[in-house]
Amino acid sequence: MKLVSYYYQDNTHIGVIDHDGNIIDVTEIAQTNDMNLLIDRFAELKGRLTDCCEGANRAALSPQKVRLLAPIPMTRRNIFCVGKNYYAHAQEFASSGYDSSAAAGNVPAHPIIFSKPATSISGPDDAIDSRLDPHNSLDYEAELAVVLGKRGRVTDQDDPLSYIFGYTLINDLTSRFLQKQHSQWLLGKGIDGFCPMGPVLVTADEFGEPGRQEIRCTVNGELRQQAQIADLIFTIPTLIKTIGQNITLLPGDVIATGTPAGVGLGFTPPRYLKKGDKVVVSMNEIGQLVNTII
Ligand code: MG
Repeated sequence: MKLVSYYYQDNTHIGVIDHDGNIIDVTEIAQTNDMNLLIDRFAELKGRLTDCCEGANRAALSPQKVRLLAPIPMTRRNIFCVGKNYYAHAQEFASSGYDSSAAAGNVPAHPIIFSKPATSISGPDDAIDSRLDPHNSLDYEAELAVVLGKRGRVTDQDDPLSYIFGYTLINDLTSRFLQKQHSQWLLGKGIDGFCPMGPVLVTADEFGEPGRQEIRCTVNGELRQQAQIADLIFTIPTLIKTIGQNITLLPGDVIATGTPAGVGLGFTPPRYLKKGDKVVVSMNEIGQLVNTII
């Protein structure tokens, strides 16, 4: 099932994408327009959500007629993020001279976890305000994001995969200047609007095995990033276990799994985003984030 949040006729709605690619409004069935609450009750609602997309008389809405929002426009708390989780990206980051930990080796021994505030989330077609990074160091990072579906701490007896609700895309937009100046990620990556998400949230049963998926990023049509999810250094179950062994996971939590090689910082000189650029993050099973820099 592909779920969306969207704005239409002065209200936020939740929808399911039908087999023609149109949106079926399920706000009434879910009795909420908050995706977090739908995830809470998904097991109970799933049958009715599926049925409403298959009826011949369903009222379908073209996605062109609405403003798509991030599938979870406001997460319950910060988005969990992973640093340096593809070998080639770890190397390009070390070579850039940006990383004070590079001397200890390019590839981390354990997952590097940080977070982006929920207020950084923006929609799949939203414009990105580059004035919020006055240092002209705005960079892109295409990432597969895992959305969790249940509450709990992950023990050795648990299957981490059982925590997964579904998958979406994010662009972990970053002010490289602030990332370096403050020796930490929060300020450089937490800026308002610097986390485009979507366009859809694909449930785990429909998405299948993430390892066979490819993620791409283009800037003004030029391919900058292209990688197989199978190339992750730390797998998705490892990330869920690493975070969830000491922190109670919540339904609707998002884990951005890291970005592959090809970010602007990796070029000499760096090729950062500038006003008028169009950055597109895509994956066949999820669709495209298309964000213009203003
Ligand atoms: Mg990142």
